[in-house]
Amino acid sequence: MAERVTGRCLCGDIRYEAKGPPLWTALCHCESCRRACSAPVVAWMGFAPEDVAWQGTRTFYQSSDVATRGFCPNCGTQMSFESTRWPGEVHLYAVSRDDPQAYHPDLHCHYAQRLQWLGLSDDLPKHAGTAGATLP
Ligand SMILES: [Zn+2]
Ligand SMILES: [Zn+2]
Repeated sequence: MAERVTGRCLCGDIRYEAKGPPLWTALCHCESCRRACSAPVVAWMGFAPEDVAWQGTRTFYQSSDVATRGFCPNCGTQMSFESTRWPGEVHLYAVSRDDPQAYHPDLHCHYAQRLQWLGLSDDLPKHAGTAGATLP
């Protein structure tokens, strides 16, 4: 069933509206995601770029040879991730959603890199690295 996923940065200059449901959802424990957000774990959802409409202009930072992260130039909120490893996808930060409670992660990826003090009691699958061709 089609669902509308909307979200925004902290200041509201950048907004998106995506045609859902997401292609996939995942919690990423990799160091790159953690550092980009200064957060212990990052909640992701994947979409086809043509299914995401943006308002406002993101600034982009090339965070690796293959990856670009988009963020709000005013408030600094991380907004998007694109990689040549996953062409045809844009990855959005689930916690930027207007309704973050409606999000459900399917699995953990890069679990081997997790911060040991983070207590997790869910029963989701935990992948040491990537969980497939469509995960960050
Ligand atoms: Zn902003
Ligand atoms: Zn990651």
